[in-house]
Amino acid sequence: MNRLTVHTAVPYEVFVGGGAIGELGPRFQALFPGARAFVAADENALALHGTAVLASLRGAGVTAFSYALPAGEAHKNHETLLKLYAAMAERALTRLDALVALGGGVTGDVAGFAAATYMRGIPCAMVPTTLLSMADSSIGGKTAVNLPYGKNLVGAFSQPRLVLCDTDFIKTLPPREYRAGFAEVIKCAAIADEEAFSRLERGDMSDDEAVFMALTVKRALVESDERDMGQRRLLNFGHTVGHAVENAAGYALLHGEAVAIGMAAMAKIGERLGVTEGGTAQRLSALLQKYGLPVEYGGDRQRVYESLAYDKKTEGAEVDAVLLQKIGKAVRRRLPRKEIVL
Ligand code: MG
Repeated sequence: MNRLTVHTAVPYEVFVGGGAIGELGPRFQALFPGARAFVAADENALALHGTAVLASLRGAGVTAFSYALPAGEAHKNHETLLKLYAAMAERALTRLDALVALGGGVTGDVAGFAAATYMRGIPCAMVPTTLLSMADSSIGGKTAVNLPYGKNLVGAFSQPRLVLCDTDFIKTLPPREYRAGFAEVIKCAAIADEEAFSRLERGDMSDDEAVFMALTVKRALVESDERDMGQRRLLNFGHTVGHAVENAAGYALLHGEAVAIGMAAMAKIGERLGVTEGGTAQRLSALLQKYGLPVEYGGDRQRVYESLAYDKKTEGAEVDAVLLQKIGKAVRRRLPRKEIVL
């Protein structure tokens, strides 16, 4: 079992490895003595892993109950959130209890935001079930729901108190979701770890190592910039375009797929602007494609440009963009929106 500590205002530990779920009950009990556990779970994750999660908690003497959230990005909204608040209130949950978010990125966002806001905030443990959420959204404390105007427009920074990445869960993922998870892994290597990028190219990295590498890269950026005002924004590589692509596609694409398209686009733009070393875009696209990820958007590109205007990272006609200087080194640049060409 690998572990790392994220040194935010209240530090927390992250466990990565097969069978990590066995640690949930004892760790939960030690962190929140006497607390009840409200497991807010993606309906699919609950069916697959609910028994193991509840057994781990109850085995440690924790009173635990579960609540199923509808699966999918389309449900990452206030309707889902209000139903979740109601379920928490019906259980008479208080700040002496804690929420366990079980599922992918959508669940972490919605359940994390519910934990951040219910009774002005209750503790939250993250148990991500997808490769993408293990490698990315499980740490860092970003929680949010979407508005019809765009993604993540209402949310809060609220760090979890415990994160358990049971990499055995990855084995139950549909192949498409498994591949999409590598977009965030490849992103972390591309912006900060050339050696890891080379190992991914050689196919010489286990899933456990991939998750741990991505979390190590993200941890350093989160620790240096918890509120996402500067360096942490390097993690947005591929995301400004990615979010616009997701909007334009009406969420027919998975987040990882949209980010893959966004990263490929930004690498090409960077080369055209002379910021990115020649050959980088080709190398990045080749690796993305090796993992079965798309590198071009097949839909209506005009809709992507329109969506860019609503991204919270755009101000006026300029975009806060992340470009690669080379593999393993990213920089932030303000770019006119017209430079963002797919
Ligand atoms: Mg992402």
